[in-house]
Amino acid sequence: MNAPLQDYTVSKSIASAQALLSVDNVSLEYRTPQRVVRATHQVSFEIDPADRFVLLGPSGCGKSTLLKAAAGFIQPVEGEIRLQGQRVDAPGPDRIVVFQEFDQLPPWKTVKQNVMFPLLASKTLKGREAEERALHYLEKVGLAAFADAYPHTLSGGMKARVAIARALAMQPKILLMDEPFAALDALTRRKMQEELLLLWEEVRFTLLFVTHSIEEALVVGNRILLLSPHPGRVRAEVHSHQYDLHSLGGVAFQESARRIHRLLFDEGDAANAEHELDFADIRIAY
Ligand code: ADP
Ligand code: MG
Repeated sequence: MNAPLQDYTVSKSIASAQALLSVDNVSLEYRTPQRVVRATHQVSFEIDPADRFVLLGPSGCGKSTLLKAAAGFIQPVEGEIRLQGQRVDAPGPDRIVVFQEFDQLPPWKTVKQNVMFPLLASKTLKGREAEERALHYLEKVGLAAFADAYPHTLSGGMKARVAIARALAMQPKILLMDEPFAALDALTRRKMQEELLLLWEEVRFTLLFVTHSIEEALVVGNRILLLSPHPGRVRAEVHSHQYDLHSLGGVAFQESARRIHRLLFDEGDAANAEHELDFADIRIAY
């Protein structure tokens, strides 16, 4: 009876040694004078280098709050978040966030100036070097020809690409994306998912990606953490590296989507959820 437990302990300690970001038993709360809102309850997960790690759960389950905590904007009331073993207690240029609203691009700066801005503001690079870095990443997202354009002349998808280039240009240890394509029309959203995967193939950045779309989670992620409704607790973690945009509509893809749906929304306790898990590729079931 002891053997599986030992195995588990060993593999867990190896995973901890390699983890880029570890979220350990983290509870997050919002406190107002009137009340305390618990956004997540004792959430744990680990992100390894070059993971495309997805937080998936219904609206209000605390996904954005977890992402903000990883960025260092809010502190856990319980548990700890570590980046390469260092406690996260403030925002830093090693963690860059891409939000849903792309109209955050200052309209008076050109595309290139927008991408250069965080590099200059954080004193990561100066003038010419910042410009070269900006152009390099604009090229990667296919916007080199629009370097001198102003944001209002761009489509939604193009603004999304500028935001991604701006984040990648900082060469963060982890890129944090909060429903970055939610405001786009369905076709543009597909295209952006595809481009993000192509970019990942090329750059191999580490990604923490938030979505409430099961389909998007399966396409974008290699690992998906399923969170329960408010307050968010971990339901399960599944591997999804076998899927990409070409899998959409396929039998295996749809079956995975259905199972995830049941895991997310079925009433019932953890034992029931675990029973439902007959993925061959389950990593942890809580
Ligand atoms: P998600 O991103 O999964 O939709 P959020 O992380 O935005 O969820 O929110 C989690 C919970 O915390 C929700 O119940 C939400 O109403 C609450 N919440 C979010 N932001 C605040 C805030 N600034 N003050 C108080 N409660 C908040
Ligand atoms: Mg959110």
